[in-house]
Amino acid sequence: MSDSERFIPVAEPLLSGNELAYVTDCVKSGWVSSLGAYIPRFEEMFAQFCGVRLGIATSNGTTALHLALAVLGIGPGDEVIVPTLTFIATANAVAYTGAEPVFADSEPRTWNLDPDDVARKITPKTKAIIPVHVYGHPADMDPILDLARQHNLFVVEDAAEAHGAMYKGKRVGSLGVLNCFSFYGNKIITTGEGGLITTNDAALAEKARWLRDHGMSTEKRYWHPVIGYNYRITNVQAALGVAQMERIEEFIARKRHIAETYNQLLARVPGLTLPPEEKWATSVYWMYSVLVGPKFSLGRDELAARLKQRKIDSRPFFYPIHTMPPYHTGESLPVAEELSRQGINLPSAVTLTDDDIRRIAAAIQESR
Ligand SMILES: *Cc1c(COP(=O)(O)O)cnc(C)c1O
Repeated sequence: MSDSERFIPVAEPLLSGNELAYVTDCVKSGWVSSLGAYIPRFEEMFAQFCGVRLGIATSNGTTALHLALAVLGIGPGDEVIVPTLTFIATANAVAYTGAEPVFADSEPRTWNLDPDDVARKITPKTKAIIPVHVYGHPADMDPILDLARQHNLFVVEDAAEAHGAMYKGKRVGSLGVLNCFSFYGNKIITTGEGGLITTNDAALAEKARWLRDHGMSTEKRYWHPVIGYNYRITNVQAALGVAQMERIEEFIARKRHIAETYNQLLARVPGLTLPPEEKWATSVYWMYSVLVGPKFSLGRDELAARLKQRKIDSRPFFYPIHTMPPYHTGESLPVAEELSRQGINLPSAVTLTDDDIRRIAAAIQESR
């Protein structure tokens, strides 16, 4: 390895389009707070992209999730089923409402919420299910939507990792009643920090806008009949969002090209399981991820250490949430636990070159 070799990050944003021009416009015009033309423009662009009528932008993805659950009236005494293998925010948003997150196992094929385990976890207290499209591959939504219909439950997609992914020809973000996205710096598009709820339900959208802005009476200024939130996005963030939306198809195409290139180079490495793409799915490969099985010559963490020596960044999979202190249940969710032990996210930024991918693939194979 030469010292001149560049460090390859797992993720980094690409802000080389109209981002600077639009942010400059906000600064020059003085519209830097949570009023301004970029906000409705971003909300409309994103909703249209998902094939839904309405978008409500928020300060981040976690507040989008919390706001969605608050709009649905979820609170103390309720249960919400979430996958145990997801980013912590999915469960925390449930906890913020006073409801209890109930953890379900993952499917070995898609790494996403297992509908059979969801069915086992439904009780008279269950109010909602939050499928998460982990690492960019959609969850198997039809069985989840069927269960929700049978038991009269809300489905709220956590699509924070899957902007543009398709389930049976439909964009994620169009499948639940209220669906949530994040625009954190490492997501498919970024606004720095930011989030958004998509929906086709005008009444729920209106309630979301109202709760997002302190729940102030529309007739009587500074009169607040409920405890609302300040979960607004700023015009500056939305300006970034509009510029990023102009390139989202290009970013997704790049993610898919990166995945194809990795898949070709890693196809015959013993002990590696390449990421899923079911027949009914179009993944956006937010994080190109592989499972490091016992037939691979190194353990997962040893592989990460070897990559680090070669200036290649990686991430382990999430810890199953039911194993962490605030949510520890002592139960066993074996598929998620095994995925969590074996899974690793490889560099997946849209800035990654084909040469970078060849360097990473060589480092993985060399370490056998
Ligand atoms: C990133 C992420 C979130 C939270 O988004 P923030 O914008 O960081 O608050 C929620 N759920 C999942 C699955 C995520 O990956």
